[in-house]
Amino acid sequence: MKTFSFLLLISFIMSCDNSVKQNNTDTNLTKTETLSSLLESSKIVDLTYDYSDETVFWVTAKEFELEKVAYGMTDNGFFYAANNFCMAEHGGTHVDAPIHFAEGKQSVDEIPLTKLTGSGIKIDISDKAKGNRDYLVSIDDITDWESKFGEIPENSIVLLYTGHSSFYPDKEKYLGTVERGPEAIKDLHFPGLSPEAATWLTQKRKIKAIGIDTPSIDFGQSYEFKSHVILLEENIPAFENVANMSELPDAGFAIIALPIKIKGGSGGPLRIIALL
Ligand SMILES: [Zn+2]
Repeated sequence: MKTFSFLLLISFIMSCDNSVKQNNTDTNLTKTETLSSLLESSKIVDLTYDYSDETVFWVTAKEFELEKVAYGMTDNGFFYAANNFCMAEHGGTHVDAPIHFAEGKQSVDEIPLTKLTGSGIKIDISDKAKGNRDYLVSIDDITDWESKFGEIPENSIVLLYTGHSSFYPDKEKYLGTVERGPEAIKDLHFPGLSPEAATWLTQKRKIKAIGIDTPSIDFGQSYEFKSHVILLEENIPAFENVANMSELPDAGFAIIALPIKIKGGSGGPLRIIALL
């Protein structure tokens, strides 16, 4: 009798286990179908610049170089193309990993993917920043957005649209100089996030990541890179040189931002898209 009960119990557990597995599979299938149909019905906006001779890099950083390795028909009768490329981590559309300005914090390969994906909001200050290449995004700019659309939802990815991207890739207008090297740093002029607003965002709101349509989250005339330090110390990655933000609404879109996975990297090229 005891043996029979035991067998019954085992078969009951097994059937439970199977039905749990079945339920999980059903849930996963439903989830996959929902995700797939959402993806198919969404408009995708590419927020990424391409890499070429024109790509804007920080004035002291190694620019993009493409070396053609092969292009053409091979002796074996098939076509073959391949290149080598070389560049700094920080150029074009890229991410600053926390370790870029905060010792011991996450490198680019360590940023959790959950921080790089999620719902986005766009704070449009293009009217205010127009004609002022040294514009600093203020706390008021953020609270103005909130007075229209409500408090920034928890775990948002915040995109700052200054309109400065309209100058990309004209280096004179976009960076403030065509010169390169350490001497060119003093000539950098482009908008950025004020350290006060960076502090406010880290203390008063809970955001996953931040992005801007300029070369840096700190403005061009910054020498202490305070907004970088404030955000990155809190493990909030910063996306820089974000493209095509004019195509985004103020809220109601999802962001997928996937950087190259350089082990120990301080940042790297980023393919960032918005789904609306
Ligand atoms: Zn950077």
